[in-house]
Amino acid sequence: MELLEKRIEQDGTVIGTDILKVDSFLNHQIDVALLREMGREWKRLYEGEKITKILTIEASGIALACLAAEEFEVPVVFAKKSQSRNVVGEVLRTRVASFTHGCVYDVVVSKKYLNPDDRVLIIDDFLANGAALCGLCDLVRQAGATVVGCGIAIEKAFQPGGDDLRKLGIRIESLARIAAMDEKTGITFVH
Ligand code: 5GP
Repeated sequence: MELLEKRIEQDGTVIGTDILKVDSFLNHQIDVALLREMGREWKRLYEGEKITKILTIEASGIALACLAAEEFEVPVVFAKKSQSRNVVGEVLRTRVASFTHGCVYDVVVSKKYLNPDDRVLIIDDFLANGAALCGLCDLVRQAGATVVGCGIAIEKAFQPGGDDLRKLGIRIESLARIAAMDEKTGITFVH
């Protein structure tokens, strides 16, 4: 998606060779108009699929998922990173290794928000090693629901997550795919 690639080139900051900061439009300050266009693009890509729910993970996925949900006209469910007291009743639980924080944490979703007849689109901001998406797919599997596919804003294609998940037969639509990046030489996209 050219609009997103241009924005990454213009406002993204590369740290080392594997972290991209996009705080000015996606991860801290949010450009809602850009996210709306991204939601429209996923809607176009998944046209004809009967999506009944969008699943994401807190916190950065939520805004993206909500703008996409406006296009699909379905609810958003976000996996919570710890079981706070206000998640009552039975929960689905899985473990996710955090790429950015270097730790492993539990994520939970209340059983009542994912049902066996749900056809789920998973949305997230980044795809690196694939741990977040694997965890979200596992929650859908535990619910007996169907993963229709994933919508990713930025895939770092030089990291293994995207290829690993596609090999498992999971459809992944990434709006920007980075082939390589470096603080000094900048960012190259996969086209
Ligand atoms: P994975 O689970 O695929 O290894 O990493 C994906 C998760 O880690 C995303 O939910 C995202 O929050 C975070 N992440 C991975 N790489 C980056 C990055 O380069 N920049 C930012 N801002 N977040 C990242």
